[in-house]
Amino acid sequence: FLSSKKTSKIPNISPKQGLKVKTVAIIGAGTMGAGICIAFLRAGYRVILKEINEKALEIGVNRIVNVINRMLKKMKMNPMALEYLMRNLVPQITYDHFDTCQMVIEAAVENIKIKQSIFSTLEQICNKTCILATNTSTIDIKLVAAKTNAIDRLVGLHFFSPAHIMPLVEIIKTDQTSAATIATCVNVSKKIGKTPVVVDNCVGFTANRAFFPYGQAAALLLECGVDPYHIDKVLERFGMPMGAFKMADLSG
Ligand code: NAD
Repeated sequence: FLSSKKTSKIPNISPKQGLKVKTVAIIGAGTMGAGICIAFLRAGYRVILKEINEKALEIGVNRIVNVINRMLKKMKMNPMALEYLMRNLVPQITYDHFDTCQMVIEAAVENIKIKQSIFSTLEQICNKTCILATNTSTIDIKLVAAKTNAIDRLVGLHFFSPAHIMPLVEIIKTDQTSAATIATCVNVSKKIGKTPVVVDNCVGFTANRAFFPYGQAAALLLECGVDPYHIDKVLERFGMPMGAFKMADLSG
């Protein structure tokens, strides 16, 4: 408990340095984009959700509606709450109104060229103070920012799947990330009920970097002929909430 409380106290950075955020744009309405969107809608933010075409947008919005409906049912809440949450969602396939956002979170596919091109566009159309965040799982933040001049406000904001449930958010800074960017990300993460942890920029950041050898060990056992259900059972008996293979199946 104390450790998780301590994570938001960042040396030499005060929450007062954070910028006010009211509107957030999310790029990509896939597994992660939809989950991140739900977390922001629940906290009362206005969310612009951008996809590449109408079909992908429809699938993404349906995913959001289904998850919210399931949540409302579980919490025994009035189904009308769906309408209340969705009134703040602006689904679209263009970059219209991105100049009204104080923060953009990119959750498109894990492809360096695509991410570089998205951020180069964002730099042109967003306000000069807008925080530009990427949900990349592993890519070096400096590489994502390579085609921009916005390295001081381009930051990693790494959610975990399912993003509307998992509390951890890694905030990945480089040696050029501004204090205002870090403070804004910490403040916003707390506002949406997450536990922000500021980490340094390196392959896999902290969580996935620690996770790689764990996954590799499980895969090695599988390759040696051990039953995956048995491996998962042993991991769960050890104390993991879920085995490595079950988790891989769930996260896709
Ligand atoms: P996904 O394939 O489910 O969704 C990606 C979505 O982005 C697709 O719907 C696609 O149409 C859309 N997209 C692609 N280019 C776009 C563009 N230019 N504009 C708007 N939308 C665009 O992928 P995902 O699993 O949600 O992963 C998204 C990002 O999050 C990746 O960088 C991934 O590494 C990272 N991530 C994934 C997980 C996970 O468990 N799935 C966890 C943490 C981080």
